[in-house]
Amino acid sequence: MSILEPLEDHRICVCVRKRPLNQRETTMKDLDIITIPSDNVVMVHESKQKVDLTRYLENQTFCFDHAFDDTASNELVYQFTAQPLVESIFRKGMATCFAYGQTGSGKTHTMGGAFSGRAQDCSKGIYALVAQDVFLLLKNSTYEKLDLKVYGTFFEIYGGKVYDLLNWKKKLQVLEDGHQQMQVVGLQEQEVCSVEDVLNLVELGNSCRTSGQTSVNAHSSRSHAVFQIILKSKGKLHGKFSLVDLAGNERGADTAKANRKRQLEGAEINKSLLALKECIRALGQNKPHTPFRASKLTQVLRDSFIGHNSSTCMIATISPGMTSCENTLNTLRYANRVKEL
Ligand code: ADP
Ligand code: MG
Repeated sequence: MSILEPLEDHRICVCVRKRPLNQRETTMKDLDIITIPSDNVVMVHESKQKVDLTRYLENQTFCFDHAFDDTASNELVYQFTAQPLVESIFRKGMATCFAYGQTGSGKTHTMGGAFSGRAQDCSKGIYALVAQDVFLLLKNSTYEKLDLKVYGTFFEIYGGKVYDLLNWKKKLQVLEDGHQQMQVVGLQEQEVCSVEDVLNLVELGNSCRTSGQTSVNAHSSRSHAVFQIILKSKGKLHGKFSLVDLAGNERGADTAKANRKRQLEGAEINKSLLALKECIRALGQNKPHTPFRASKLTQVLRDSFIGHNSSTCMIATISPGMTSCENTLNTLRYANRVKEL
């Protein structure tokens, strides 16, 4: 097989990662209601009450490609999710990895975005781990002769608009070019030559992402962050890996008591997460039409969704506590739908 031949049809891998109970949950005596009985099963033990007020546990079981418990490291999660896709971008492929879940469930911790890009705790996130493998493969004799250059982009999608995190949050237009490709016009592509360079970009982007915000998490949880590693050969696109830290999927922002801005934010997020699910499902079923136009997120990721040589993985992150039960079940149901064809 030629090294530039596409691999197989679209592949999708859906995994779940449970984080440990945090200090706040432990202090308020929140209960851990999630067990991972085997490496691909997640169980939710929901405490319910009968009419006579006696309590009982309702157990629900979900199966995925992999399930990681709260002892799993970022490296382990990486090995089963993004790592198998890295080589495909050297074979002119498109790869995408999503972190999906409630705010505070571990999306950014997993991807290695805000504040954990240069992880003080020595556990690299997926941005850095992908970069590490990309620079290793670049030296591989098979790919060396392709004379590839590596670039990074980092942008945010908020309220249906795209902002360049490598250029002071400049608002960018998304246009369709003559070849039915979506272009984010003027998006900064920075050449990177080492993992260190990539971490510097992540740091720059994160400082841009949170600048001028009173509450860091409040803002970043309402936007999707897309970090891309792009391979180019003689100035032309060769392959691309998009790493997406999605906006928090929790409901509540769209309830009556939320203010108007929050309601609109919530509606926009719901719309994009729904569109994302539909696009991934359409891909998995090899449907000719992918409803990518339904949201800015799917529009921007369109070139990763079409073409036979694309692959996707989703890491659904969940909080273990009883207080997060409803959000956790929503996350597991969504991930299940993405996986089921
Ligand atoms: P999100 O991006 O989904 O809102 P974060 O990644 O910011 O959530 O995680 C919330 C907090 O929980 C952070 O302080 C983070 O360091 C911690 N955390 C998340 N996942 C893990 C994990 N698997 N192990 C240890 N700490 C974690
Ligand atoms: Mg986050």
